[in-house]
Amino acid sequence: MQFSNTYVNLGERFYQKSQPTPVQSPNLFLFNTAIAERLQMQESLLNDRDALAQYLSGNRLFEGAAPIACAYAGHQFSSFNPQLGDGRAHLLGELTDREGRLWDLQLKGSGPSAYSRSGDGRCALGPAIREFIMSEAMKALGVPTTECLAVVTSGETVYRKGPLPGAIVTRVASSHVRVGNFQYFAARGDTDSLRLLRDYCIARHFPEIDRLEGDRSVLLLDKAIERQIELVVQWMRVGFIHGVMNTDNTAISGDTIDFGPCAMLGVYRANTVYSSIDATGRYAFGNQGNIAQWNMARFAESLLPLHDQNDASIREEMQALINGFAARFSHSYTKMMAGKLGFIDYRDNDHLIAESIMEQLSEQKMDYTDSFDLLTRALTDETASEKLSTALGASFEQWKNRVLDQDISREDLYNTMRTYNPVLIPRNHHVEAVLKTCEESGESTAAEAFLEVLRQPYVLTENTPAFQTVAEDYDQSYQTFCGT
Ligand code: AMP
Ligand code: MG
Repeated sequence: MQFSNTYVNLGERFYQKSQPTPVQSPNLFLFNTAIAERLQMQESLLNDRDALAQYLSGNRLFEGAAPIACAYAGHQFSSFNPQLGDGRAHLLGELTDREGRLWDLQLKGSGPSAYSRSGDGRCALGPAIREFIMSEAMKALGVPTTECLAVVTSGETVYRKGPLPGAIVTRVASSHVRVGNFQYFAARGDTDSLRLLRDYCIARHFPEIDRLEGDRSVLLLDKAIERQIELVVQWMRVGFIHGVMNTDNTAISGDTIDFGPCAMLGVYRANTVYSSIDATGRYAFGNQGNIAQWNMARFAESLLPLHDQNDASIREEMQALINGFAARFSHSYTKMMAGKLGFIDYRDNDHLIAESIMEQLSEQKMDYTDSFDLLTRALTDETASEKLSTALGASFEQWKNRVLDQDISREDLYNTMRTYNPVLIPRNHHVEAVLKTCEESGESTAAEAFLEVLRQPYVLTENTPAFQTVAEDYDQSYQTFCGT
């Protein structure tokens, strides 16, 4: 295991050097051996829980790590804050996997930095476990995401609404560069740093740009847009609501980042919001595509200072990309929904069938995941078919006639649909129950059991049904919170 410090090498304007603040009695709570092996951690370390707890709490520093708090800005909801930054996180450096790819290793909850403002620099155990569970679930579902290597309890108390056990979560990411990092330099008129950051992102995430013709900023914007579209479409496939799609929570890599107030859609309704602070529904389930476009417009603005203000062509090219976002998104979304519905060829009336199914799901207040699971099973399972026929009526019959009139066996169609439609998602009430059990018991058993089934979300295992149940009130009173 060898650390690189490529972000540190960008220069001191990109961060503040910052040491984690040691904690009282660190204990390894959750650990992801598969990721540790991928990052080529020594076997002697993997088998030493005490040493892991010391390193992954920030009490001890890995050889070669150079901890920093990264500087960034960001639009939070729609207002711009020119100075955010890692207020409770430390980037230790990057590790290389067996394929030679770089991965950031970041501690979160590891103490205050120059960017903490009035925050304590800490993280409570509940949100740390949530990030571990949700990112692991998203990865298994096939959604681009940051990952978690570990959760370590600190043996200290953090105060939120009341006293809570504290923890440090280790995040692994293909990078932590956000739209907000670009906005930070754009707001300061620091074009030298902006150029360095742009070229760093190209080298790290989109090296193919070096081989393409055209302006590097425009090409980067185009690639970032492509990734954001793929990300939000994948979120919508599995019913994920991020909850706080601020520009400081939008990674240039196109990975899901920051699982604070996130939630999973229950009953299918496009305007579903669970976040307590999202009064206007800005980050509602069905508005996530529009917000990704808005965030990409902010990204484009932050790249503009790199170019001659008298030359309108770059601005026009970027504007065309932003304007073209909606059509690209709609194309990807439609393709994804066709997959969920089992349309393997394109037909003119497909959108009408899709709309009528979605309308029925909404009107009959049906669960999004369960309904698509049933549709998948309805191909080969008479009970599932009858259930849907009763619930959806003519819409279902129309759908069934359409999908069975394709040149594919029912088994193959089932298998294709199954790749789009999970049998299990991390349902809100199960996540909450697991967090509560872990907090109260101080043990990770409940989280481990949940993780085991979440790692196979397309397979009905013996233990899956216990986690498939829908909340009694269909999550109508469910609320999530920021500032965790
Ligand atoms: P988040 O809501 O986690 O995306 O955080 C938004 C901003 O608030 C980031 O700059 C965080 O570093 C900062 N922040 C959140 N919680 C804390 C905390 N407990 N202490 C210090 N800074 C924090
Ligand atoms: Mg954040």
